[in-house]
Amino acid sequence: MKIAVIGAGIVGICTAYELALDGHAVSVFERHAAVAEEASFACAGHQSASLAHPLAFPAWPQASRLRALLQPSGIALGRGTTLAELRWLGGWKMRSLGFVERFSAAQKLVAYSLERQQALATQASLAFEQAQGPLLLLRSEAALQAYQPTLAALAELGVVAKVLSPEEARKLEPALGAELALHAAVCFPNDGIGNCRQFAHALKDRAVDLGVAFHFATPVTALSHNPHTTVHTANQAPQSFEQVVVCAAGGAAALLAQGANAVPLTRVWSYSLSAQIREPLNAPRSAVIDGHSQLGISRLGARIRVSGGAELGGTPHGRPEASTRALYLALQSHFPGAADFSRSMQLWKGASLFSPDALPLLGKSAQPGIWLNLGHGHSGWSMACGAARLLANQIAGRPSDVDATLVQPTRFKT
Ligand SMILES: Cc1cc2nc3c(=O)[nH]c(=O)nc-3n(C[C@H](O)[C@H](O)[C@H](O)COP(=O)(O)OP(=O)(O)OC[C@H]3O[C@@H](n4cnc5c(N)ncnc54)[C@H](O)[C@@H]3O)c2cc1C
Repeated sequence: MKIAVIGAGIVGICTAYELALDGHAVSVFERHAAVAEEASFACAGHQSASLAHPLAFPAWPQASRLRALLQPSGIALGRGTTLAELRWLGGWKMRSLGFVERFSAAQKLVAYSLERQQALATQASLAFEQAQGPLLLLRSEAALQAYQPTLAALAELGVVAKVLSPEEARKLEPALGAELALHAAVCFPNDGIGNCRQFAHALKDRAVDLGVAFHFATPVTALSHNPHTTVHTANQAPQSFEQVVVCAAGGAAALLAQGANAVPLTRVWSYSLSAQIREPLNAPRSAVIDGHSQLGISRLGARIRVSGGAELGGTPHGRPEASTRALYLALQSHFPGAADFSRSMQLWKGASLFSPDALPLLGKSAQPGIWLNLGHGHSGWSMACGAARLLANQIAGRPSDVDATLVQPTRFKT
């Protein structure tokens, strides 16, 4: 079939590659001049659902509805926060109460995705920076106790998580700051860290080898139907396709805003700061997440990256000083002496796209010929390879390897 993929972030690249593997004639339309220039540019690199990101599953695992609603969301409200975003926040906290089922769905998709990623990496000889076994740092007995229900739920889902003493944690991450108050840590040996942008670039090259046509610097302005879907762009003649897959993340709302395809998606902004490693012995071997600040610090080859924050109502440019200062301070306190502050550092802000229930929209849309693969929230890198294979199977009419009921785009009736 002749298929268009809109968006060349990590999700679009994986989707294009899988569709080309299935023998389709694939064209990718991307508004930037290269792949992975938006949300996939400098993400933390975690490939995990085990860490149960509080942003995706804020009520995790709260027994009481009232407690869940009172719990601070950890989301900062920027000056530009709209009424629609506030409504999303309210609905998101309410809906988070059904988290076990949704978390389980996310976890299965990530596990499937990691398997698929390793298969692709081997099959296509993809080299990218990666590591295993991130640690969640717990700073007090209260934090460890608060995490117990999560551990029990993870165990039920079959996720391997080992509680470590501070000494055991420091054996795995010997460069952790000596001054850092550490009460315990949880190790997730099966979770990974990987360089998302590097993987996207490498897979794009393999996609070209498979015959995928890339149209860079080509913003898609509209989709129309006649009866095939026509892709209209800012700078090329319209082209018709038998199927169109929208992987446009932050740009999808403008394309899907009308009629049956309208979906409620909200952008949540986060930050990352990357620096060259000054002294490898002072740097993390893999990655840690501080359970208190929710900041993550990972090693990506010769660089160290700290990331976190969550803001509604942001813009790509505004960078509140408090958010960026927190990143610098975390680098210094958690891995002192690791970052080379004398060389240029990369401060980046990106938006994760959340659906109202924090699960992706993956599959057939309400509009014939249009498929969606977007809204992966804070787990887009973790889910990209699996989501792409699931979608390719659906387009081919093959049975799904993973139950995709909870991620169907049509679950939000608008
Ligand atoms: C600070 C930060 C840290 C993160 N850490 C992690 C992590 O540790 N693990 C994890 O799994 N996830 C993480 N994420 C989330 C992850 O980065 C995203 O979920 C993922 O990158 C989304 O990929 P995507 O391809 O859907 O979106 P994008 O990378 O944004 O790609 C969408 C593409 O579509 C293009 N596009 C949009 N509209 C149009 C149009 N009209 N025409 C043509 N092209 C268009 C855009 O230019 C863009 O290239 C993090 C996110 C942030 C911001």
